[in-house]
Amino acid sequence: MILTKEPKISEKQLAELEQIVSEFHCHIQVIEGAHRNIYAIIGDERSQTMLNRLLGLSFVDRVDRMESIYKLMDIRSDLQHHRISIGDIVLRQEPVFMAGHCTVDPANPNYFIETAHAVKEAGAHVLRGGVWKPRTSPHSFQGSEESLNILLEARSQTGLPVIAEVMDSKQLELAVTAGLDLIQVGARNALNYSLLREIGHATGEKKIPILLKRSIHMGPIDEFIAAAEYIVAAGNPNVIFCPRGTSPKPDGYRNNPDESITPLLNAKSWAPVVVDPSHSVGRAQFIPEASLAAMAYGADGLIIETHIQPGKGIGDDPKQAITPDVLKRIIEDSKTIWELRKKYH
Ligand code: PEP
Ligand code: MN
Repeated sequence: MILTKEPKISEKQLAELEQIVSEFHCHIQVIEGAHRNIYAIIGDERSQTMLNRLLGLSFVDRVDRMESIYKLMDIRSDLQHHRISIGDIVLRQEPVFMAGHCTVDPANPNYFIETAHAVKEAGAHVLRGGVWKPRTSPHSFQGSEESLNILLEARSQTGLPVIAEVMDSKQLELAVTAGLDLIQVGARNALNYSLLREIGHATGEKKIPILLKRSIHMGPIDEFIAAAEYIVAAGNPNVIFCPRGTSPKPDGYRNNPDESITPLLNAKSWAPVVVDPSHSVGRAQFIPEASLAAMAYGADGLIIETHIQPGKGIGDDPKQAITPDVLKRIIEDSKTIWELRKKYH
């Protein structure tokens, strides 16, 4: 990672950096921060000769080579002061709450529109709605592109930013073109490195926040952080970690609740953590405890499947969506826990 004396360098100076690192089979990725740019060296950066030649340039202040496999996501990275905003919320400064259907039902758009108004009323800041769905069985409903318009209609009626999951390049392009405010990478694609890189490239210009779920099979924490590194290294520093439960699991829960990794993520990386209790415990009755536990563990927010009439929903909603009145109480109590935590840090 190259720190320059001035916050930003000229095109000509950037070309000089690129020329040097390319001789060592590396390239430069510019990460644009609000106040200063960071010039990340992508590739094997161990050559001492390369380091010395970079340090020989008059406009270079420092070159940090980290041992870490995720030098941009690392807590010591110069992105440590980077802040991600969603609407009026600045993550890490106040908690964020995302809520809405697991799956938008294209046959019954009114449920989603009504849920959107209700979650806003309950205090949510972001509206979730699954358009394309990763289903374990190929015979289950796979989501529908029609739902994208329902999501956008709900956004225009409520003014809430919206989030949906994408699973491939085509969906990514549609999501970016439609102007989705956040994009989710689901647990099944959490280690799909070519998709992660593609998402980083496609969202880098608009800096669309990416909610990156943890992979299902209890992957190591470093693997989770390194997956986020792919998105950042491809040009988008707005990545949010989302623990969502792992497998194997205790009988009775959908997954093994893993909100407890939040302090570890916070110790190792600067990126915010928004926990998904819905896919973790997988039953509406357990969501309040799982949500408050996540906040107590230091989460910066929650994403919770919520439906005005869960029994009328599709996808996961009939079993794990909570109702907006429960959401309202969870949001209120989560804010209390957020304040309580300040005693300790
Ligand atoms: C979802 O958010 O509805 C979903 C399918 O999430 P996950 O990838 O965590 O299973
Ligand atoms: Mn779901």
